[in-house]
Amino acid sequence: MSYTYSNSTLAFNRAQQRIPGGVNSPVRAFKSVGGTPIFMKAGKGTYLTDIDDQSYIDLINSWGPMILGHSHPQVVEAVRKQALQLFSSGTPSELESEMAEQIHAMVPTAELIRLVNSGTEACMSAIRLARGYTGRHKFIKFAGNYHGHADCFLVKAGSGLATFDIEKVPGVTPGVGQDTLIAQYNNLDQVKELVALHPDEIAAIILEPIAGNMGCIPPTSGFLEGLRSVCDEHGIVLIFDEVMTGFRVSAGGAQELYGVEADLCTYGKIIGGGMPIGAFAGKRKIMEHIAPLGSVYQAGTLSGNPLAVTAGRETLRILQENPAFYDQLDQNGQQLKTDLLAIFSEKGMPVSINQVGSMISVHFTEHSVNHYDDSAVCNHDMFKEYFHHMLASGIYLPPSSYESWFFNIQLGDQEIDHILHSTKMFKS
Ligand SMILES: *Cc1c(COP(=O)(O)O)cnc(C)c1O
Repeated sequence: MSYTYSNSTLAFNRAQQRIPGGVNSPVRAFKSVGGTPIFMKAGKGTYLTDIDDQSYIDLINSWGPMILGHSHPQVVEAVRKQALQLFSSGTPSELESEMAEQIHAMVPTAELIRLVNSGTEACMSAIRLARGYTGRHKFIKFAGNYHGHADCFLVKAGSGLATFDIEKVPGVTPGVGQDTLIAQYNNLDQVKELVALHPDEIAAIILEPIAGNMGCIPPTSGFLEGLRSVCDEHGIVLIFDEVMTGFRVSAGGAQELYGVEADLCTYGKIIGGGMPIGAFAGKRKIMEHIAPLGSVYQAGTLSGNPLAVTAGRETLRILQENPAFYDQLDQNGQQLKTDLLAIFSEKGMPVSINQVGSMISVHFTEHSVNHYDDSAVCNHDMFKEYFHHMLASGIYLPPSSYESWFFNIQLGDQEIDHILHSTKMFKS
């Protein structure tokens, strides 16, 4: 069977008339891989169906959230029931406390939790809080780490900016950018140098504890521990951006997986179970500075929205009750890594594959990939060919070599075999 995209092409032409670039988030465009973005209409388990009635093994999973698979019956039923009760009231509801208790049960350092509407909001609020708490202005972020599209983060931000080669974002004023200090990922010495250069000026260090926005790049041994010590020594707030890794790499996220505690952590993606939510959370003594307890202001009309909270709470509950899911995800990830490496090596094609649990990425390079510069020099044209080859065999990879792949618990042997078989058939 060969795939055709006539309905998607029509839909994309229509979308471009009224929507900038035809998409509501740049990473959905196929600009860097070429071709027409595919319009989806349905999802079930580990498969997506497009508007030309063709199905795909989904290796994006809405960029992370759909860890249980699409249209999980229990999540659907919980949302349906809630929809009949209350969409939104702008008052507190008990659902929010249930969600906060659920998060705390899975992430013990999340002593107080504020719900917001996206990962971007979570990260920008966490930075504001760290600044308000310490009375300092600057923060350190790592090249290639993405923390959403708030002004202060749009410096060396990986993800869509790397994909589209956007070096400087018009509209972000120099004043905002100057308080964002950049270090190389996995380079503790550079962090120490920046801290020494700016004594008592650095409010926070924010990072993806496993990077997923320059392909998947895990922390090297000692990196997270080293950051923890630097922060302790200098009164700096350590923020783990767990928007991707939270509830994905383990029930307690990267904090649990690596045994390093953050002061604040941010969430999005999985905690909404496919609906829009974000959260920032952490040590009580810091979180108490948020309004109305303190004067660091942060608010949201739809924050804690009953429908979104219901989808998220149900998703987290299912994950917490099934710890074996994480072993299964990791086994599948390891198998994919091992077998893909063997296939590419047989072909004589140099690749570097990073994998943590259900996050994995194939970089076309003979070097190991430990930071943004490693990722940037990979063979992106080769990825483009691989992407289209896989798409034509019904496998939906993220349309950029700067993105991690995500799979869900519905991915089974049959799908893994198909991914491996299709990779075997790849000829550059
Ligand atoms: C996706 C992502 C964000 C931004 O979340 P949005 O919900 O898209 O605003 C922030 N940080 C990381 C690590 C992400 O992967």
